Amino acid sequence: MHRPTLADILRRCGPAYRQTHALSAQQRRAWRAITACRTAELGGVRERCEHCARERYRYRSCGNRHCPQCQTQAKEAWRAARCREVLPVPYAHWVFTLPHALNALAAYHARWVFDTLFACASGTLLELASSARWLDAEPTVTLVLHTWGQDLRTHLHVHALVSCGGLDAQGGWRSPVRGGHFLFPVKAASRLFRGRFIDALLTAQKTGVLDADPAGTQAQRAGRLRMLREHDWVVDAKPPAGGPAQVLDYLARCPHCKCGHWRTVEICTPRISRSARAPCAHAGKHARDSPP
Ligand SMILES: [Zn+2]
Ligand SMILES: [Zn+2]
Ligand SMILES: [Zn+2]
Repeated sequence: MHRPTLADILRRCGPAYRQTHALSAQQRRAWRAITACRTAELGGVRERCEHCARERYRYRSCGNRHCPQCQTQAKEAWRAARCREVLPVPYAHWVFTLPHALNALAAYHARWVFDTLFACASGTLLELASSARWLDAEPTVTLVLHTWGQDLRTHLHVHALVSCGGLDAQGGWRSPVRGGHFLFPVKAASRLFRGRFIDALLTAQKTGVLDADPAGTQAQRAGRLRMLREHDWVVDAKPPAGGPAQVLDYLARCPHCKCGHWRTVEICTPRISRSARAPCAHAGKHARDSPP
């Protein structure tokens, strides 16, 4: 059975939806790309097999980062490349989350917030790893940015796949002082992470890098700073049950639905009776599109 793609759904239900919903320029671009992907609209190529001379036609793909068809391939390639880098040692899965008090700033200065998040997460891991108390070596770290949580709201965090062990100054392999999957305490990492980010924020404010900061007044910036300092920042660490490949698998999938692919089972066409619109037979499925 042909499983409808997102493009099928946009084509089928899109015109009605767009009569009542305005799209931003970016959404319009993504919409156009997704509905045109792998159709005659983008043109195609004729290919011939060098052995049997059989021919086939292939449509061009859109390459848009919001297109599930294109992104599945990109994710698979990314996952395969990372899997080749995995060492035969234990790994830990860390998550560094920014407080939601920074969401508004990220809406205006996404690049700065994401760069700083990456720098502070990796800086924290490498600083603790360099301490003789915990490891005294440099581990391998793979970071992946997630900007949404499962409820589709802004939830800025990076996942880090960290080798439990690293190269010491002499180039030899060194295991964690405590052994096994324990690299360093989450609490210490949380404090360092917060300290690094707040330092970077204060410096950026001082040097005028954040010219469109929505906390526009001195009082607003002081209020935000108070909120950022008030709580511990969320840092998580756990050994991956299925090893590093399982984490890469998870990270390569769609963080929103965790299914890795749109798994729409059916496109619903409202049945229209002569007198009135019958309720959609699949209304329940629309509200919840969690993977089966
Ligand atoms: Zn052939
Ligand atoms: Zn595409
Ligand atoms: Zn995530």
